[in-house]
Amino acid sequence: MTAPLLQVTGLCKSFGGVRAVDGIHFDLYPGELLALIGPNGAGKSTTFNMVGGQLVATAGSVKLAGHELVGMKPRDIWRLGVGRTFQIAATFSSLTVVENVQMALLSHQSRIYTFWRSAASQYRSEALELLDQVGMRAQANRPCSELAYGDVKRVELAMGLANDPKLLLMDEPTAGMAPKERNALMALTKQLVVNRNMAVLFTEHSMDVVFAYADRMIVLARGRLIAEGSAEQIRNDPKVQEVYFGS
Ligand code: ADP
Ligand code: MG
Repeated sequence: MTAPLLQVTGLCKSFGGVRAVDGIHFDLYPGELLALIGPNGAGKSTTFNMVGGQLVATAGSVKLAGHELVGMKPRDIWRLGVGRTFQIAATFSSLTVVENVQMALLSHQSRIYTFWRSAASQYRSEALELLDQVGMRAQANRPCSELAYGDVKRVELAMGLANDPKLLLMDEPTAGMAPKERNALMALTKQLVVNRNMAVLFTEHSMDVVFAYADRMIVLARGRLIAEGSAEQIRNDPKVQEVYFGS
């Protein structure tokens, strides 16, 4: 058995009196697509943000290949190999597809480039290679603003690969997508997990998607981990049924 890539132990986050995440434990292995599911407000995004360093845990530990991440800056965590998918829509939609990926590759640099266009030219071939991996190379020179939504999500995925992540965090990657696009994005994600032997932690509302693509799933409810296992185990777990269907 290989060693876990990510080890989360006793992880907690309180906001004032609210225990958003309340002592959760889980492991994640290389080559694994792990779904983090649970109703709204369960603590999924808070967990993601503690792994990525955007939030500092109140207690507990997050280790990546033995390195403690709690207390590290997001940028340093990113450099250690924890990627996350970008949301282009908010920021760079006027740039072309390839320029967006070049921007993500540029984030490797520690100083801000004022003349980023000349600096970015170095990353063009790397960016095209990443676009190839998500099936978007042919659209490299189109502005992102012209793309179909499912294609924007592919570009965001390519950008998430810019630091050559060992672990990629995807918070609701398929939000707002039609079922066909969702399946295509998850099939692509699964293929990348296998080809790169990377691990993915993702959240997802659609149980159909989770059951079809996740290797394993963990279920949060009110900040606690209430179940963990395969699709079959989760489907038949009475605690999960109670949380989702109130039965
Ligand atoms: P999920 O992503 O599963 O929907 P969140 O992690 O966003 O859940 O939220 C978990 C709980 O923590 C919720 O009760 C939410 O209201 C609370 N919460 C999240 N972020 C903050 C914050 N910055 N300040 C105060 N409460 C927060
Ligand atoms: Mg959330």
